[in-house]
Amino acid sequence: MKKSLTVCPYCASGCKINLLVEDNKIIAAEGANGVTNQGELCLKGYYGWDFLNDTQILTPRLKTPMIRRQKGGKFEAVSWDEAIDYVSHRLSDIKQQHGPDAIMLTGSSRGTGNETNYVMQKFARAVIGTNNIDCCARVCHGPSVAALQVTLGNGAMSNSIVELEDTKCLLIFGYNAADSHPIVARRIIKAKEKGAKIIVCDPRYIETARIADIWLPLKNGSNMALVNAFLNVLINENLYNQEYVDRNTEGFEELKAVIDKYTPEYVEDITGLKAKQIREAAYMYGKSSAATILWGMGVTQWGQSTDVIKGLSSMALITGNLGRPNVGVGPVRGQNNVQGACDMGATPKDYPGYQKVADTHVRKKFAKAWKVKTLPENPGYTITEVPHKILEGHVKAYYIMGEDPLQTDPELSTMREAINKLDFLIVQDIFMTKTAAEADVILPATSWGEHEGVYTSADRGFQYFEKAIEPTGNVKVDWQIISLIATKLGYPMHYDNTKQIWDELRMLCDQYQGATYEKMADLGYVQWPCPNEDHPGSQYLYHDNKFDRPNGKGLLVSADWIPPKEQLSEEFPMVLCTVREVGHYSCRSMTGNCRPLQTLADEPGHVQINPADASRLGIEQGDLVYVQSRRGKVITRADITPRANKGAVYMTYQWWIGACNELTLDHLDPVSRTPEYKHSAVNVLKIDDQ
Ligand code: SF4
Repeated sequence: MKKSLTVCPYCASGCKINLLVEDNKIIAAEGANGVTNQGELCLKGYYGWDFLNDTQILTPRLKTPMIRRQKGGKFEAVSWDEAIDYVSHRLSDIKQQHGPDAIMLTGSSRGTGNETNYVMQKFARAVIGTNNIDCCARVCHGPSVAALQVTLGNGAMSNSIVELEDTKCLLIFGYNAADSHPIVARRIIKAKEKGAKIIVCDPRYIETARIADIWLPLKNGSNMALVNAFLNVLINENLYNQEYVDRNTEGFEELKAVIDKYTPEYVEDITGLKAKQIREAAYMYGKSSAATILWGMGVTQWGQSTDVIKGLSSMALITGNLGRPNVGVGPVRGQNNVQGACDMGATPKDYPGYQKVADTHVRKKFAKAWKVKTLPENPGYTITEVPHKILEGHVKAYYIMGEDPLQTDPELSTMREAINKLDFLIVQDIFMTKTAAEADVILPATSWGEHEGVYTSADRGFQYFEKAIEPTGNVKVDWQIISLIATKLGYPMHYDNTKQIWDELRMLCDQYQGATYEKMADLGYVQWPCPNEDHPGSQYLYHDNKFDRPNGKGLLVSADWIPPKEQLSEEFPMVLCTVREVGHYSCRSMTGNCRPLQTLADEPGHVQINPADASRLGIEQGDLVYVQSRRGKVITRADITPRANKGAVYMTYQWWIGACNELTLDHLDPVSRTPEYKHSAVNVLKIDDQ
């Protein structure tokens, strides 16, 4: 039996795991003493390896390249040579006929690793000649990146997961740590045990609300109004740090003008909260000697999410809660490597290290390193724009790696229509997902556990993960597949291993240069920025309160509240908000194939509904119900719980039957292009003849 030291692939907490391997099978997982998890794991860490033993409960593992030569035809197993040849010919034809921007590509925030994301964005830019590369950060923390780059200079947590337990006040906004990052939730509990005050802003009575000093159950869709009311109290009741504001920020008067009317009394109707509660929470945050703000999808998946995050970072700035230990702003990234996919430049406006494609000097630097004459200048499409770009005829080919948009993206009917209209769909994945089933070519890849690499956890921590077992089937590592296609297209791309790729990346990004494989060996944890090999990495950002903006000052900014796009009506009187389920991950292709996790819950999932609403609708616990919006109708089971607020229902997006993204709408935040998953107008109907 051997032990392989890896990193859990199921959320960005970055837990280190020892996988116990016998005869090329995983037999158990143990928590290793990683920086963030200190020997502890949640249930996904303990049991999420089962699919590596070829369990195949939900869907078959992809084991050989396949081509479907005609729409509606059958997949035909082919050799790798034939698959690579076919893909490169089709891409080449489409590029010749329609130009490079007719091809869209994705990185992956899941088990594949940073090196693959680096190679994929290089392939998009240097080989295809487009910036049409994006990843699923777009549908989660895209607004955090966009907002924090503007206000502070870096689109990442300013602090560290380990610091959370030593903060004195945690303001937790739209973030359900117990379901999303159980190991972060333990840090929150430890903070409470050490005497920290906890404020929770969430319409649902989530786990953290149970231990909160103040729980603010705001109305769905009122985030901006509440943040502005907090800012109003902090400024008008003199709870801010005038000296810090004068020395380290700009934009105070403009901020003051925006939030002036948002008194706690003014937002009572909008938020459904009492002015007294809002004032108490603002006082608790403002008076703390070390306060931290954490947020999740409840803040980011809205049509006004970038504004709200700018407002939250303004709260931290005016109170001086940045640039020292145990304070800061924490967008807690969801998928295990969503921070990494952004760090590697798998986004349409940034090269690796957040260097801008619009910057001529940066383009020249990358062109020289990648040995091409020029690189594309125009920003590419986001994945949320793609369905419309396909339907308008701009995008003809889509190369999707490790993503399942036909399950995870909003307004699935539009996404299906778009996918059907594509000339050419390549899916590179490990399971026959809903999207893979529609592909023209399937390129089967290795999984986490079957390859090595580096992930970035939510707090900018680079960690190396080992390969544990040899893959079965005729599969290849993601970056090798991309390199073969690049070479076939006339751009020789050869790497011997992931270290070679990583070292190429390090040399191109100042803030990653010191993060060597040697430093990441065993339990090594290197948080960027790490500018040279003598540098230990950065536990927190903005030392000496120097912000990474041209003048070194943090920008204070907020915006007027805008109501959610889709209004409730007589026909659709309730709000649907999409959420997560602790036992499953993303589109569920991995965790759905793990027996212990699958037995936790079965199709068709559930819709959480308040007892008063259930009673009004004649619904009892476990009843089959329809949930219907203006875009579709799904069947699911009722889970009656007082944790759901009246007038709203909650569904996870992970179930294949009863997929709630049939109901959501693709209204996008204008800056980050992130969808408003958290507010669709629906009705719920009991199915009488079940
Ligand atoms: Fe840790 Fe997240 Fe994995 Fe759970 S799912 S073990 S919290 S990394």
